[in-house]
Amino acid sequence: MIIRILKDIKLMTEHLLWPQACPICGRATVSFCPKCLASVVNAVPPFCLECGGKYGAHCCKNSVPCFASSIHDGAAREFILKLKYHNVKSIGISLGRLMAKENNPSSADLIVPIPLHGNTSREYNQSTLLATGISEEYQIKCDESILFWSNNRPKQTERYGLQRASMPLNALTAIPKLNNKKIILVDDVYTTGGTLRSAKAAIEKQGGKVVSAMLWSRRITSIENEATWENF
Ligand SMILES: [Zn+2]
Ligand SMILES: [Zn+2]
Repeated sequence: MIIRILKDIKLMTEHLLWPQACPICGRATVSFCPKCLASVVNAVPPFCLECGGKYGAHCCKNSVPCFASSIHDGAAREFILKLKYHNVKSIGISLGRLMAKENNPSSADLIVPIPLHGNTSREYNQSTLLATGISEEYQIKCDESILFWSNNRPKQTERYGLQRASMPLNALTAIPKLNNKKIILVDDVYTTGGTLRSAKAAIEKQGGKVVSAMLWSRRITSIENEATWENF
């Protein structure tokens, strides 16, 4: 009983702090409308997980394509911020389903979300919700126990700007015995690609095979990836 009251108070406080309204049409009391959510999908051409440029250049031989369903801007950005910081969990699975419908990656055995950073206080992993939506749409199992952050990793907050781009390849670790398992990686936003490169390396070390990565959006204005974006 007390827990329920506390939960109600928490929800009310959140509503006062961030009044619920659809960022597109402004409809109050809902955090989004499915139609408005679908209207912001605007997939960018597949890009390379290793170099960030358009997928298919000579450097991409041992790489895989990344599929982003929007550019990290405007309403597409607002929806992901609601999911990440305003506790609007229900957006996650809907976004995942849209990501699945919009793109056409090659088939896989598992959908694997990037784990939540160890030093975050968030209650849930937004990438797991996206991965769940994709998993439902493709009927491929989602497994969030495959990847975890390695213990020796420097804290994200201690790394700045370009330093973040140079995330060490061993920042993530994968569970053993992924023998030839084909995996689609899922993350919310592509910034520098460092996390995805580390996830791919960790999975390959255990014998698995990353076939693609799916993201809700790609950030284009950061100094880290301006150069590669120009190749589009
Ligand atoms: Zn709306
Ligand atoms: Zn490449």
